[in-house]
Amino acid sequence: MANVRVAVRVRPLSKRETKEGGRIIVEVDGKVAKIRNLKVDNRPDGFGDSREKVVAFGFDYCYWSVNPEDPQYASQDMVFQDLGTEVLSGAAKGYNICLFAYGQTGSGKTYTMLGTPGLFIREEDSAPLPSSCRIKVSFLEIYNERVRDLLKQSDQKKSYTLRVREHPEMGPYVQGEPLWSWRSETKLNSGKCWISNNKWKRQSCPHRQAILENNLPSEIASKINLVDLAGSERADPSYCKDRITEGANINKSLVTLGIVISTLAQNSQAFSSCQSLSSAASDGGDSGIPSSPSGTSSGAGPSRKQSYIPYRDSVLTWLLKDSLGGNSKTIMVATVSPSHTCYSETMSTLRYASNAKHIINKPRVNEDANI
Ligand code: ADP
Repeated sequence: MANVRVAVRVRPLSKRETKEGGRIIVEVDGKVAKIRNLKVDNRPDGFGDSREKVVAFGFDYCYWSVNPEDPQYASQDMVFQDLGTEVLSGAAKGYNICLFAYGQTGSGKTYTMLGTPGLFIREEDSAPLPSSCRIKVSFLEIYNERVRDLLKQSDQKKSYTLRVREHPEMGPYVQGEPLWSWRSETKLNSGKCWISNNKWKRQSCPHRQAILENNLPSEIASKINLVDLAGSERADPSYCKDRITEGANINKSLVTLGIVISTLAQNSQAFSSCQSLSSAASDGGDSGIPSSPSGTSSGAGPSRKQSYIPYRDSVLTWLLKDSLGGNSKTIMVATVSPSHTCYSETMSTLRYASNAKHIINKPRVNEDANI
């Protein structure tokens, strides 16, 4: 079992934030990210309680990418060394890996995944793939609850018709999803993986999927899901009032993702408190955490309650089912602005990310090359 690993990355102040007099309210101290509420600082009655002014959250990684002059500055390369390497080495061992970015629009999700250079970038001058390694790639976009194959050059509208189905053993998949084998075009060099296809850089692409297969000699196959979600502000039910259908569907994905994450987190916490109770009482304990919609069960006490996980309520969560509480090693990168003008969004992203830390997955090495 493995917890979802969570990284937070703070980007530089944008030009607009600087122009608006944005003050830096986020700081990073080792694996702790702290956020300051200036409104508490500035209470007119002067009775601000210093304990309320700063809220601290612990993560697996915290990256301070605000100012390159700063000694603790985390460059794209440093982020790659931690996360990109973890993704690729995990996949090479045969695990399914999911790396997803979460944060408000403009907070640096795309920059981190695909930027200059991103974790997964296109690059021309690289070493050829080792002969034992074959990479198959598919890119999917989930927008408005519909799935589109980004590799299809032709009729854009028609390609929004792919359906998500579920294989009894392999889990959810996109029907008719073509797998592109890019033995010659795809390069692997010092652990970096990149794709020679300009479709990769689409801004509005909330879901990208790559499949890395290593057929020789052990016939291990693994999936890498790279997911660049729609801006987290769209999880707010009041967002997109004017674009009701589109807004509602985007909300549906992100709201459902939020519910799935917090339910899994609660179940995982219930499970761990249940385990410590049961080991103290030596009574055997519960069987584990539900990883599928079948999981409604309850035990003797409130800490044993396991809630239904609504994976199927949105296309996004259904496709990510394995990555959230299932057979996957999952990394979440939460991206935030350092500016006081983004206080609410940053606070909500940090809370969301902090919740995700409690999700426990059950990754296993895939031994079937037909994944
Ligand atoms: P998102 O994908 O979350 O909407 P972007 O990745 O497009 O946000 O980032 C918004 C802007 O901020 C871009 O101009 C990007 O270059 C810049 N940016 C984001 N993160 C960083 C970073 N870590 N360092 C430098 N610039 C960044």
